[in-house]
Amino acid sequence: MDLQKNKDQVFAAVENAIRTANRPENSVSIVAVTKYVDSSTTKELIKTGISHIGENRVDKFLEKYQELKDEGLTWHLIGTLQRRKVKDIINYVDYFHALDSVKLAEEINKRATHIVKCFLQVNVSGEESKHGFAIEEVEATLKSLENLERIQIVGIMTMAPIDASEDELKNIFQTTHNLQQKLQSKQIANMPFSDISMGMSQDYALAIQHGSTFVRIGSSFFK
Ligand SMILES: *Cc1c(COP(=O)(O)O)cnc(C)c1O
Repeated sequence: MDLQKNKDQVFAAVENAIRTANRPENSVSIVAVTKYVDSSTTKELIKTGISHIGENRVDKFLEKYQELKDEGLTWHLIGTLQRRKVKDIINYVDYFHALDSVKLAEEINKRATHIVKCFLQVNVSGEESKHGFAIEEVEATLKSLENLERIQIVGIMTMAPIDASEDELKNIFQTTHNLQQKLQSKQIANMPFSDISMGMSQDYALAIQHGSTFVRIGSSFFK
């Protein structure tokens, strides 16, 4: 496993996708998803020039955070968070990508001592197994989130089905982009909706074509 080579390849591919899409340089942040490796391998990866770290599970996040908290990283929790675990983790989280209920938002608001940047997770594909708000629910939900002063809704996050065809992916990503633009145009105070978290190792180039600003990439770093 040549971490430097993998990192260089991922970053070059992201830059390439940004250029192809005629988007500004540095308009996409690369979150390295380190769930496949331990803290020491994560440390090696950081040395290659990584600054955003993502974990999908609370226990793994905390394990990495303990070891690496002095490295000046930006910390992303990208997976489902149970309400009872909010208090254990929320104060180490810079970005939470999987806000999927108002009750969870209220618990975060209660426990956080800083403003947590959150993505609303939206189940754009409509897959039953996926978490997240249905597209039709999102607008009505905003009212309930408006007065939570420790939550900033920076954007929306979506996950495509693993077996999606290229056409389905395009459709999901385009729908997500349209929704983000619509929500951003509402100009709600604590909800800039300026970002989109979508794209993983298999589909990040396409996600960038469709406006993604945070790609969550795991396996491409660790092959
Ligand atoms: C694992 C994971 C990723 C990264 O997936 P890869 O296919 O390994 O790039 C992205 N987002 C979430 C929520 C994940 O759990």
